[in-house]
Order: sequence, then C-alpha cells, then structure tokens
Amino acid sequence: MTDIKTMGQQLGRRSWAEPWKIKMVEPIHMTTAEERLRAMQESGYNTFLLKSDDVYIDLLPDSGTSAMSDRQWAGMMLGDEAYAGSRNFYHLEAAIQEYYGYRFIVPTHQGRGAENLISQAAIKKGQYVPGNMYFTTTRLHQELAGGIFTDIIIDEAHDSQSLHPFKGNVDLDKLRALIAKVGAAQIAYISLAGTVNMAGGQPVSMANVRELRALCDQHGIRIYLDATRMAENSFFIQEREEGYADKPIAAILKEFCSYTDGAWMSAKKDNLVNIGGWLALNHEDVFESARNLVVVYEGLHTYGGMAGRDMEAMAIGITESVQDDHMRARIGQVRYLGDLLTQWNIPIVQPVGGHAIFLDASRFYAHLPQSAFPGQTLAAELYLDSGVRAMERGVVSAGRDPQTGDHRYPRLELTRLTIPRRVYTQAHMDVVAESVKAVYDQRERSRGLEMIYEPQYLRFFQCRFKPL
Ligand SMILES: *Cc1c(COP(=O)(O)O)cnc(C)c1O
Repeated sequence: MTDIKTMGQQLGRRSWAEPWKIKMVEPIHMTTAEERLRAMQESGYNTFLLKSDDVYIDLLPDSGTSAMSDRQWAGMMLGDEAYAGSRNFYHLEAAIQEYYGYRFIVPTHQGRGAENLISQAAIKKGQYVPGNMYFTTTRLHQELAGGIFTDIIIDEAHDSQSLHPFKGNVDLDKLRALIAKVGAAQIAYISLAGTVNMAGGQPVSMANVRELRALCDQHGIRIYLDATRMAENSFFIQEREEGYADKPIAAILKEFCSYTDGAWMSAKKDNLVNIGGWLALNHEDVFESARNLVVVYEGLHTYGGMAGRDMEAMAIGITESVQDDHMRARIGQVRYLGDLLTQWNIPIVQPVGGHAIFLDASRFYAHLPQSAFPGQTLAAELYLDSGVRAMERGVVSAGRDPQTGDHRYPRLELTRLTIPRRVYTQAHMDVVAESVKAVYDQRERSRGLEMIYEPQYLRFFQCRFKPL
C-alpha cells in the first residue's frame, strides 16, 4: 500500500527517459542452468571465451556493442569505398575537428591502433609515461614502445569507497616529484584518460586539466588524452563542477580537449559505432610520424582500416554522442542499476561512474585471497546464475610486471557490469541487479579459481581457469 507521503513524492518526481524509441529488435537466447554450466566449463571460467549465443544479457564491454541510430544506418548506405580520399573520411575529419577541436586526424581500425601510433611516434626508449591510472592496451603499447608507465592518479582513485567527485584527477604533486626525479626531458608525454576506466569510470575535472596544462607548459611536456569516454566525462563536469551547469556537453568537451595536445579514441565507446578509432593531433611533427606509421599498421591515411561506411556512421555517431539528452539517459541507466545495488548493500565502487557498475569483488568475497581471483570468480558465478556476462578488472587484467614476472596485485579487485549504449531496457537492469543479489546471498559458497593457462600478452582475454 502506498501512503499519502510516498504518493506525493512519486507525483513530484521527474524521471529521465531515452530520447529515442525502438523500431527493430534482436531476439536473445534464454539459457538453462545446465547449458550455462557446460558453457562455463568449456570456456575455462573466462567470460571472454563464451559464445555470445550462450549469453542472455551481455555486459562484457561497452565496446562496439552500441545500437546505431536510423541516421547512422542511413549513413552506411552512403559509403564511398574509394581506396583513397573517400568523402566519408572528410566528413569524419570535420566532425572530430568540430566537436573535439583538434587540427590533424589519423583514422585507425580501433582505439589500440591509435595507441600504437602515438606510442611509437612520441615515446623514446627508457622515457617515462605518467598517466592517471593504467589502461590495459594503452600501457602495453607504451611498454612495447620502450616507455615506463607511472601512475600519477590521486590516491582516492584506488579506494572504492571514497566519494571524491573527480576520482580520475591527476595528483600534480606526484607529477612534480617525477619531474624532479627524472627530469622533464625523460617524460614522453602525459597519458591522460577521461573518464578513468580502471578506477570505475571516474571523471577528471576541468580545474585539474587546466592546472595540469599550466604545469606541463612550465616544463615543455605534452598532454595526450585518451578520449574514449570523454563525452561521458563532460557530463560529470556539467553535473558537478562549478560554472558548468548551464554549459552544453559539446562545449565542455571542446574546452577540455583544448588543454591537451592531441587524443586517441576507441570510437567503439562514446562515438556509437561498432568498429573504428582515430588519433587527433595539434602538432605537425607528431602528426607526420603518425601519418607515416598508419600506412604500415592500419591502412591508407584516409581510411586507417575502416570502410567508408564505417567512417560515415562514426561522423554521425559523434554528433549524437554529445547531445545532452542522450548522455543523461545513458548515464541515467547506469545509475539506475547502481542505485538498486546500493540500496541492497552490495559493495560497488562509489560514486557510480559513466559506463559501468564495478562490483567490489574483494569486499563481495571477503573470505577469498586475491590469488584466488575474486573478480574472475564473481564474473563466473553471475553467468552461472543467470546468463549475465560480466568481466574481471583486477589481478587477471593487471597482468605481470615485465621486470619481475610476478602478478601485479592492484588495490582494486573488481568485476565490471558494462552497459552498452542504447541497447538494453530498465527491465534488463532489474534482472541483472536481482542476479547480483542472488550471487551475493550465496557468496560464502564460492571457493575461487586457479589459473591453468596464461598467454603472454593481455592475458585476461584468453586465459583459462578451474574451480578450487
Ligand atoms: C577500449 C579502450 C581502449 C582501446 O580501444 P579498442 O578500440 O578496444 O582497441 C583504450 N582506452 C580505453 C580507456 C578503453 O576503454
């Protein structure tokens, strides 16, 4: 029974809703517990090795999993599949210049293609690459280019319970200390990510990037931005930072980028396409190196591994991705799931970030040591319970130290429920939340996993486990 007081609250409330309606649906497969157990055993308890046909609700990544709009699909029909100088490339170039504000554009097949180019073009062997927490593919390309990644994010980022509004911020004192120790010439560039994926999709503030710019200017250090979820980051600035409440996301995005010297992009995230990426630069010297390397690794400098139709869909996706209504619904849905789990006292990274809910696996399974892979265990248990596919972001993802060969034990041992853009409904989020609750209620039964196969690079994608 609803009493008068809660009824009044309900009447007074104002919900967000998606600024679109659905005109085509894709049926998904409902699985049985026996099917899921067999599928999990066959895939070595690694959710990356599951067949998508065996998955009910797929929250593995938000990468390339977005639903495109009717406008984007119409754009696909306008693909100019010329080898050189495709008109779609010029549309894409113009969209990046307009919304991100950079001068020179190099297209790539996806984000890591761009990471390879910038790492090779801008890192000399033995140089340091300070960044606001690592990302798997980013750090690997920096290391393959001879760089030494150094974490300069604020301490709060490593604490799943800190309610700092901008947990992605750079700790400028950590950067000053590094400059004092190794000298500015030994720093290749600052690797700045907005939002910070591995910290839980946490944003960087405008004040922080402005101060970072000033410090780097004193020392002649360049700043390159991982712009993969920078539109989402801009939403948090609008919401939380003084002076930005009335500014549109598009304007905030452009201002933020203006404090950096270039950016790489996994367009499979913010930009609402299924494949694609780009590198954007303001300095001609790095642009020239990158444009030279792109023909070695990706394709000609006017397609970079993409079809003309992909570039057209991306140009349209960029425009859609910076609309305030889109972003409000996008992050609103992530928060809806986060609020349910928070109400049920399930340990998650707070505050809820832009693209995912990160379950705090070390508190979820307080009885498991990190060497039993609690994050991986939780992803496996969720799949067994309901067919919801999540992924690990803990010791498995962190890999091994290239010098010592030991596991890198990150302070955050997480399991990520990543929400694709414009794909699932609130009812799907309810099903996910209820499955997490069911697994939580039985958490003491879990014994953890043992790794039985481990590839050399980015092991989390292909390694295999067995239950302890
Ligand atoms: C996905 C991602 C990348 C790599 O991009 P791909 O398109 O997967 O190659 C780089 N940085 C961040 C923050 C990402 O989330």
